Amino acid sequence: MAATTPRGRLQGKNAIITGAAGGIGLETSILFAREGANVLMADVSEPALAKALAKVKEVVPTAPRVESIRCDVSKESDVQAMVESQDSWGGMDVIFNNAGIMHADDADAIDTPERIWDLTHNINVKGVWFGSKHAVLSLRRHKKTRGSIINTASVVALVGAATPQLAYTASKGAVLAMTRELAIVHAREGYRFNALCPAPLNTPLLQDWLGDDKAKRHRREVHFPTGRFGEAIEQAHAVVFLASDESSFVNGTDFVVDGGMTKAYVTPE
Ligand code: NAD
Repeated sequence: MAATTPRGRLQGKNAIITGAAGGIGLETSILFAREGANVLMADVSEPALAKALAKVKEVVPTAPRVESIRCDVSKESDVQAMVESQDSWGGMDVIFNNAGIMHADDADAIDTPERIWDLTHNINVKGVWFGSKHAVLSLRRHKKTRGSIINTASVVALVGAATPQLAYTASKGAVLAMTRELAIVHAREGYRFNALCPAPLNTPLLQDWLGDDKAKRHRREVHFPTGRFGEAIEQAHAVVFLASDESSFVNGTDFVVDGGMTKAYVTPE
């Protein structure tokens, strides 16, 4: 039998990941590179991005092509430049619109400052719109008949939490609804849109905020059937599937990766 070259699940695909210096973004960049994708890592924080790029190159020395670009996803000109920078690679095939914030001053209906509402929505919602818009324009420009767009929402788009972050929750609900509509509008072009809904995770976004406050931590852990927070890598594995052609008939889903949290009523002791 002739020897076969092992092929990655994302071999030959040009992928963009926003928020690539953060918990989920970095793990996904590593897995994408391992699976043979050409990866463009984007983030607003240049120092964090430089560290993240070095990490991917260190752990995946065989990565075909990994580069980085500074991008503030709330600015359309930045997003356009990011997507168009892959024109010389042959155009993007996959974009993971993952950048998002959860601000410490986000609170309930009474106490959330309007400026925190606007900031959160500019990044979490407008950023995903810009990423989706320029992905469609690029896929069309390059006459691609397939494309996968994955947008990060959250389980708080599906279930209410008595620990309110109203601006964040509303922004993730918007991501979910927007992704669903985009999925239907562009289905006949072959462009798939899916929303990732992670449960609370062991990443700096949440863990820094929880600190060593045991009560605050327990308030959340008790809702997990598994009794633990999720890991960023567990989200990254789901994103590889959604990005790959293995998910060719998966479109418009609220792809929930939560250890069963949103399906639970009473959890084990
Ligand atoms: P993280 O804070 O570790 O990473 C987020 C990254 O986004 C950071 O590197 C940050 O610099 C970048 N970023 C922030 N504003 C940006 C902007 N304007 N433009 C470009 N990049 C920007 O967070 P994470 O846990 O990896 O979260 C990634 C996504 O997952 C977010 O959308 C978040 O809301 C969502 N999420 C996280 C959790 C969780 O518990 N960690 C749960 C559900 C959903």
